[in-house]
Amino acid sequence: MSLDIPLLFETGQPGRANRYLREEAAATTYLPPELLRETLPLPEHTELDVVRHFTRLSQRTMSIDTNFYPLGSCTMKYNPRVNDASAALAGFRDLHPYAPDALAQGALRVMHTLERALASLFGMHAFSLNPAAGAHAELTALLIALAYFAQRGEGTQRTTVIVPDTAHGTNPASAAMVGYKVVSLESDARGRVSLERILSTIGPDTAVCMMTNPNTLGLFEDHIAEIAAAVHAVGGLMYYDGANANALMGNARPGDMGFDLMHLNLHKTFSIPHGGGGAGAGPVGVSAALAPFLPTPIVRSQDDIFALDFSCEQSIGPMRSFWSNFAHMVRALSYILANGADGLAQCSKLAVLNANYLRVKLRDVIDVPFDELCRHEFVASAQGLKRDTGVRALDLAKALLDAGYHAPTMYFPLLVPECLMIEPTETESKETLDGFIAAFRAILTQARRDPSVIQSTPTTTPVARLDETQAARHPNLRWKPA
Ligand SMILES: *Cc1c(COP(=O)(O)O)cnc(C)c1O
Repeated sequence: MSLDIPLLFETGQPGRANRYLREEAAATTYLPPELLRETLPLPEHTELDVVRHFTRLSQRTMSIDTNFYPLGSCTMKYNPRVNDASAALAGFRDLHPYAPDALAQGALRVMHTLERALASLFGMHAFSLNPAAGAHAELTALLIALAYFAQRGEGTQRTTVIVPDTAHGTNPASAAMVGYKVVSLESDARGRVSLERILSTIGPDTAVCMMTNPNTLGLFEDHIAEIAAAVHAVGGLMYYDGANANALMGNARPGDMGFDLMHLNLHKTFSIPHGGGGAGAGPVGVSAALAPFLPTPIVRSQDDIFALDFSCEQSIGPMRSFWSNFAHMVRALSYILANGADGLAQCSKLAVLNANYLRVKLRDVIDVPFDELCRHEFVASAQGLKRDTGVRALDLAKALLDAGYHAPTMYFPLLVPECLMIEPTETESKETLDGFIAAFRAILTQARRDPSVIQSTPTTTPVARLDETQAARHPNLRWKPA
């Protein structure tokens, strides 16, 4: 299989490179000799050839800048360019991570302001901006819980973490990494945590109860107060996976619901490019009782002077080098300030409206197992379609690519067979949503008329169906010279 775009390594020719350094200036003019390589086998190209190469490659992929991208749970909203412009301001971009506090007051103010804004938006006592993604934040929060229980002399008693079966896979993985025993909780018939089941699971060994709200079915958990009371009654902690905070920011606060710990995915909710597993930002929020355990450094402010505090005795220590992904903090703050509190609340409302619009416009052509008012996303199931026609969720996802839409999330959460998790976000227009609805309905009509057409999609993308087993078992990732 070939993408029919040769690699730069294959097309380079000696002598082609644009040279901006004058030939007579030896490299040692700029760098000490011990840093120089003896050989550097890079291909030589003109700048124009390089620009065309990468532009061509970029046109062969789908991105939020090119196509509607309803990837559930991932919140692929538009990333306003002003965020990037703010992050690229020379004062931020050129700042050295070892710069003394006195020379980094603007950057420290950004961190402090963002931290305060998140604390007030989500009702937490304090946030750490240290963790670099959602999963990393879960790990951080569970290390905080571990330190908290150790300090109370309950380290050996608190052994379990409760995780509903709708949770993102990172939840049980993070708990296991910290050494907790994971108790998975089966959802009830309404796609929510079963109050009865969880109450009989909570006990003196409960360290943390991890909840995702709205859960990955896009449904708001409706027994939080009772669950929080029961967990607190046995001395356990409530954790809020807020990766999907786009459904509630500015409208409801986990801190008010009784959560002691939470994380946010700034790269989802607060509009930061995050396709392809790029750098993220996963702040962890805590109640006052847990604040002493937050990672270092902590940005302190006194009389409008900001300083990094590394001297917190009970801290679990740094989770990430330097200031973590600082540029993302600038982007997130830029987004918060541009929208304001009202604007953020409005974003949430529109995200919920858009998801419900799609749900209602599609439920007569595809099963929606939990067909009730949803939050930011909803889950459809192709199980009936598969039974009738053989067409699976995967086939629908591939057919959508041909129609110019990125596929929804597939086969997650695990409790809905053949599922597609659809999250439109607030930044899509009604016209775009209507286009998606029309395309999806046409695909379903075709699936019932002639399944083979849908099963042989995609036909318009640079590569057709891949042998996913081969790709997983024998990945071919390395270029070798001919
Ligand atoms: C995305 C997501 C995560 C993991 O976040 P990463 O930044 O990808 O590590 C955790 N929980 C939920 C509910 C998510 O949607």
